[in-house]
Amino acid sequence: MDGRPAQYRDRVGRLDEWRFCPHCSGPIEVDGRHAVCSACGFQEWANAAPAVEALVVRHGRVLLARRGVEPHAGKWDLPGGFLDEDEDPVDGLRRELREETGLAIEVGAFLGVSLEPYGRWSVLILTWLATAPHGEPAAADDVAELAWFAPAQLPAAADFAFRSHVERLALWAAAGSGRLEG
Ligand SMILES: [Zn+2]
Repeated sequence: MDGRPAQYRDRVGRLDEWRFCPHCSGPIEVDGRHAVCSACGFQEWANAAPAVEALVVRHGRVLLARRGVEPHAGKWDLPGGFLDEDEDPVDGLRRELREETGLAIEVGAFLGVSLEPYGRWSVLILTWLATAPHGEPAAADDVAELAWFAPAQLPAAADFAFRSHVERLALWAAAGSGRLEG
């Protein structure tokens, strides 16, 4: 135990099975979180992948997305996704919400950062409050289903893909939806 929250001790080993350099096909050596090609000197670090997501709230209810793809297909998730490497995070949030829900969101308060295992990756997630004043959400892209949930009717913890969402939604519910809306 190193005193950090449990999610910060997970290590998924993204580079563990690397054998060949992606640039020159030379032999690559992986030393824990770092890979080095002995032929061309290429190096790679096992960083987490940045992603963005939102608690979209309307009339006191929050929008959740049921995952249509692995990992965690069928579990509840917050809508959002991975950033492109040159993408502003808030622009990426708007893009992901448009792709997955069809909604144009208004981005509100920044709620914080969490780190989650995601298949062979770790994902570093930035989370905002948001509103979507107009239109009904329509599931698309990686999302199988979208639904609005009141604080007292959230899915069971075991039905969520990521434990940080359980904690974040519990905080939202405890704060009262009126005070944490967009
Ligand atoms: Zn190489």
